[in-house]
Amino acid sequence: MRKGPFPRLVTPVEIAPAAATLGGVTATELGLPAVRRAAGPDPDPARPADPRLIDTFGRVATDLRISLTDRCNLRCSYCMPAEGLDWMPRDEQLTDAELLRLIGIAVHDLGVRELRFTGGEPLLRRGLDELVAASAALEPRPDISLTTNAVGLARRADALAAAGVNRLNVSMDTLRPERFAEITRRDRLADVLEGLAAARAAGLGPVKINTVLLRGVNDDEACDLLRFAVGHGYELRFIEQMPLDAQHGWERTEMVTAGEIMEMLAAEFVLTPDTVARGGAPAERFLVDGGPAAVGVIASVTRPFCGACDRTRLTADGQVRTCLFARTETDLRALLRGGASDGEIAGAWRTAMWGKLAGHGIDDPGFLQPDRPMSAIGG
Ligand code: SAM
Ligand code: SF4
Repeated sequence: MRKGPFPRLVTPVEIAPAAATLGGVTATELGLPAVRRAAGPDPDPARPADPRLIDTFGRVATDLRISLTDRCNLRCSYCMPAEGLDWMPRDEQLTDAELLRLIGIAVHDLGVRELRFTGGEPLLRRGLDELVAASAALEPRPDISLTTNAVGLARRADALAAAGVNRLNVSMDTLRPERFAEITRRDRLADVLEGLAAARAAGLGPVKINTVLLRGVNDDEACDLLRFAVGHGYELRFIEQMPLDAQHGWERTEMVTAGEIMEMLAAEFVLTPDTVARGGAPAERFLVDGGPAAVGVIASVTRPFCGACDRTRLTADGQVRTCLFARTETDLRALLRGGASDGEIAGAWRTAMWGKLAGHGIDDPGFLQPDRPMSAIGG
């Protein structure tokens, strides 16, 4: 075996070609990646002996996005079909102990400083408060945030804050109950509004609202949503719709662009670019009518920010993804369950991130949407 700075390496092991069938169901339907990587013998000797999650483009991943479950209690049309998906079998999901071991390795050995719990719907994960509390007990203490649809949040916000959640993002695409029911296929807007208020009262601020505008559905609400957010002390962020829906129905020509959103907002508000350095943050921030209120626009498609990306991602079944749009994954669950040491797992994670591509490539002629949908990756 070649000598390298890390104990083990990751080589592609083809386990699930997209077209392969497993008991009559295609791997794609199951949301499996086209290529899953397993531990192998060949570290890249060119990788510097840096313990952090560095890549060949000089980026360092310090922000870990953790999908706690692929299940959800809503069915947002741009995310999954009305009937839901074939959820991940329980035994494939990392146990709490496995997940905490990986989080510990990320913080202690790999320099991760921020954790964001997401899904699917993270509030559906049993033991969430305990997972947060155990993560908050790590040294150095990571910043902990949650992205949620806020259904059921009202009665849980205080406990989450006490467990150690610092900040919270709530997804809400409309202020109109009938429209909410149309987009999410569930009549739960009142719960979301209650959840938002409870999060603010629990001190989980600044509470951010994530909104995806859909042409002809809710794109007439950009100003209403911003007025609501500013009036209630929430920070609104518009996210461009991305090709990550399980139905593969996204069309570039149909998506509402950041440029269009800015134009709509300019009809009612004066927006000035925030001068605070953006760093690895995905949102371009603008002060609303001189501030201090601000609005963010996440232009992942039309103004990608891959060059400043500081993310590494972990799916609920223990796969490391270097990007939302990655078409390969590295199987840390197999290492965990195969008795690997912390050092071996850290080495595999480093090697995975070393191979991170320069960008998501949505504009490349050969772009292929990842097989796993957003709900199974963790947004
Ligand atoms: N269920 C939680 C929620 O909705 O907040 C967490 C997971 S959800 C996948 C995370 C974020 O991804 C949400 O803000 C959602 O609006 C966004 N999202 C889902 N599908 C998307 C898509 N195709 N394009 C852009 N954003 C999307
Ligand atoms: Fe569920 Fe979030 Fe997807 Fe909506 S966007 S279906 S709330 S995972």
